Amino acid sequence: MAVYINDTCINCAACIDECPVEAIVDEDDNPTGEEIYYVYADKCVECVDHFDVPACAEACPTEGCIVWGDVVDGMPAMEGRGAKDEPVIED
Ligand code: SF4
Ligand code: SF4
Repeated sequence: MAVYINDTCINCAACIDECPVEAIVDEDDNPTGEEIYYVYADKCVECVDHFDVPACAEACPTEGCIVWGDVVDGMPAMEGRGAKDEPVIED
């Protein structure tokens, strides 16, 4: 599932415009119904060929709200990515 946003998201909107492939939607468009931002795993490319680190996680002001999910078959995976549920950016 690429990267995903966990329930510590504070809906600050810092990530949404940073995504180069428009994989992120806000709480109003979250298909799970949760009141947090959401990453479409079938769109997220882990920022491969765009940035050195996932731009959403770099922009996020929280500690560890954007975490690694499973690698999606047929989608790019960032070299050196963390394991599932690990924060994309560790403080
Ligand atoms: S890792 Fe990159 S492609 Fe994936 S949601 Fe974040 S900004 Fe978008
Ligand atoms: S930047 Fe982080 S806290 Fe803000 S909306 Fe995105 S995932 Fe949520």
